[in-house]
Order: sequence, then structure tokens, then C-alpha cells
Amino acid sequence: MCGIFGVYPHKDAASIACLGLYALQHRGEESAGIITRNGKKPHLAKGLGLVSDVFDDKVLRTLRGEMAVGHVRYSTTGSSNIKNTQPFYVRSKIGDIAIAHNGNLTNTLTLRRELGDKGAIFQTTMDSEIIAHLLAHSPTKDLKEAITWSLSKMEGAYSLVLMLNDILVGARDPFGWRPLCLGKLDNSYVLASETCALDLIEAKYVRDVEPGEVVFIYKDRVESFKPFGACPSAFCIFEYIYFSRPDRNIFGHNVYTTRKKLGAQLAKEFPIKADLVMPVPDSGTFAALGFSDASGIPFEMGMIRNHYIGRTFIQPTQELRDFRVKIKLNPLKEVLNGKRIAVIEDSIVRGTTSRARVKTLRQAGAKEVHMLVSCPPLISPCFYGIDFPTKKELIASKHNIEWVRDFIGADSLSYLSLEGMLSAMPLSKESFCTSCFTGKYPINHTCRQSKYILEK
Ligand code: SF4
Repeated sequence: MCGIFGVYPHKDAASIACLGLYALQHRGEESAGIITRNGKKPHLAKGLGLVSDVFDDKVLRTLRGEMAVGHVRYSTTGSSNIKNTQPFYVRSKIGDIAIAHNGNLTNTLTLRRELGDKGAIFQTTMDSEIIAHLLAHSPTKDLKEAITWSLSKMEGAYSLVLMLNDILVGARDPFGWRPLCLGKLDNSYVLASETCALDLIEAKYVRDVEPGEVVFIYKDRVESFKPFGACPSAFCIFEYIYFSRPDRNIFGHNVYTTRKKLGAQLAKEFPIKADLVMPVPDSGTFAALGFSDASGIPFEMGMIRNHYIGRTFIQPTQELRDFRVKIKLNPLKEVLNGKRIAVIEDSIVRGTTSRARVKTLRQAGAKEVHMLVSCPPLISPCFYGIDFPTKKELIASKHNIEWVRDFIGADSLSYLSLEGMLSAMPLSKESFCTSCFTGKYPINHTCRQSKYILEK
């Protein structure tokens, strides 16, 4: 995942972008960056860490200009290091190009080889850099034609915010895997991954950038075009389950309401006996509320989250993940002691985090721990911009539910059915990508690439 943001024209473009990135911080905690353009001069500041680590008043004052593009990164192609930070900026024959990308290209290796054969020299190991090279290699200087030519070469998932000279550009792949919305702030236009970024800066939500749409934002007007024919959508269903903030609308519908419906459906499918239902905070909270409403089992917060720790799943290495699990959630013995507990988890990836949580609950005196998961077992990797590990690291791809239950140490383990998950969604089941649950992918991949494909 990643969070992307753009604003134009605005006299405080950098500050507005910084606020937008704060609202999108949950989409990536590894690095943050903003580029602005003042006349013909770009100003770029980026670094590793959170938005608050990278930007302060002094840095923001150096980012002059009425256009800003911002990015927060969670690496899905290329390591987490200073070179692989965005926005990625180059000067080319078509002018200044700055790129903020969310998603994963699936023909990265092919494109990189083709461009390399034509003399392209790469500075990073991100697939996003390839987009800049495609634009620079396009056979035309007309910007709309150059964009169309470049996008036609790209396969896979991309939501993009680009600075192309004095035009702010938003683009979404024809399947629409990753979200992107358009907002208005007085006379300025805003592009953002999620509507919560618009809410924070008090911009009005105009609409989603549609799958396959390209939006050109000039100083005095907006133009939109769809260079490719219609294709079935493949919105990432995991945005509703885990990734997006609950206080936002995604693909036109509210995340909070959808998560409660997932919990209610889980209660319908698994009517268990328990004294209390509790979430794994924070992402399991809303499904747990839905579960409690539907089952009549009282809702309690059995664990309190340390809010100075980021999201565990988002950390790039196993060592860090294990360390953070231990300090992230503190159990409430007074609530848990002697009780039969239904724990609502949004997903189980490797199983190690769930195992640590069950152990903590038992140490706090829980009599029974029943783990209920608000999505089906994850059995296949994601090639579209979420860093799900390889198939062999996904615990449910190798083992049946009973084995996983035993591994995590729970008294019972229940996963929401695929049909149940889809029935809780606000859009038709055909609208979604569910590949990580089914192993069926919407496009044929030239290769099944890993995160480090450009580092081998
Ligand atoms: S494979 Fe899973 S995580 Fe990836 S885009 Fe599809 S639904 Fe989302």
C-alpha cells in the first residue's frame, strides 16, 4: 500500500499536502515525501520515517509553489531505504515529471529490461520509477498522448498522482484495484487515496477518479479522459477489511458500516457461546461491534492498544513485527479473568501475531479463547500492492483450519466464508478482487514477481 496526495493551485500547497499525508499515514509508515513546483523550479523534501519525522515548519517553508504532490510509502516493490522514497522526480524530454504511486505493476521485469535495453539508467528498485522512464521514452511530446502511451505499456495496479510540468495529473488503472478520489478546496483541486484526507483539510469530496480514467488539473480547469476501453473492475476487497481508515468512504461506500456488517455476518455463521466479545484493536474493533450487536454477546475492550506504536502488519521485517506485537497490546486482567472470550481478528497472515495474542489472553486469565476472523483464509499472495508474503509464508495456504487453530493455541478458530464476506459488501461481488482468498487472478501474469524482483 501507499498513500498519495496532490493539490493545485493553492498558495499553501506544501502545508496542505503535509496535512493530507498525516491523514493517509496509516497507508505507509516507512517514508514520506512532498514535491512542489514554483514557476519552473521543483522543490523536493523526503525521508525515511513518519510524516512528523520528515516535515516541520522549516522544511515546509522550503517547499514553495502552488502545486504539491505527496506520498507515504509502505514498500511492495523494492526495499525500504532512502533511494526508494517518493515522490520520484526526473527531468526529461517532455519536461519535469514527479510520481507518487500506489499499487504494483505486474510486468515490472519485462518493462525494466526493455527500457534498460534502450539505455535507461535506474536509480531505484521501485516499479514506480519505470513509469517515469516510460513517460520519458514516449514517442511524442504531447502530454496526453505520452500518458496514454505509457499507461498502455503498464500492467497491474496503479493509482497515480503526477506532476507533469504545470499540470497535476491523477490516473487509475482500468481495473481500479487501488482507490483515488477527487476533491475541491475553494478554487483548488485535490487528489487523494482516501476521503479522510479531504475531510482533514475541509475539502469537498467531488467523486472517485474512475477506473481507467486520467484527470488533468490545470490552473484554471479540469479535463478528463479514458484512453482505454471498459473492463471489469477489481476493487481490492481488503481495503474494506483491513487497510482503509474506518472514517472514510472507499469505492463510494463507508468502511465503518461495511466492517460492522462483516462482524454481523460472522456472528450469523458462527453462533458460539461466550461471555464477551472483544476486538484485536484497532482494525478488528468495528467487526467486533457488528458481531456483538448480532449475537447479543456483550462487547468489551479486553486489550488496550499503545497508540505510540504503528500498525504491526505494516512493518517490513519479521524481527520488527515480533518485537512490536509484544509492546503493542496490553490485556485487561479484570475484564478477561475466568471468561470465555470471542476475539475478533480482521485477518491472519502468518499466524505468529495471533499466536502471541492468544498466549497473552490466556496469561491474563481467559478461560476459553475463540478466535473469529472477519475474512476467509488467506491462501495466495497479492501482486497488486499489498505486501502479503509468498504463498509458503501464508499459514492458511499450507495448513487446514484445525492445524492453524492448534498453532495459534485457540480453543476454536472460525473464518468468515467467501460468500459471507461478499454478501457484507456494499457493491456487487463482481466488482471485487478476491485473489488472495481464491488464488484466481483477474489478469494473466507474465511472471509472479516478489517484492525484491529488481534487487536480485
Ligand atoms: S489479492 Fe487480495 S489484497 Fe491483493 S488486491 Fe486482490 S483482494 Fe486486495
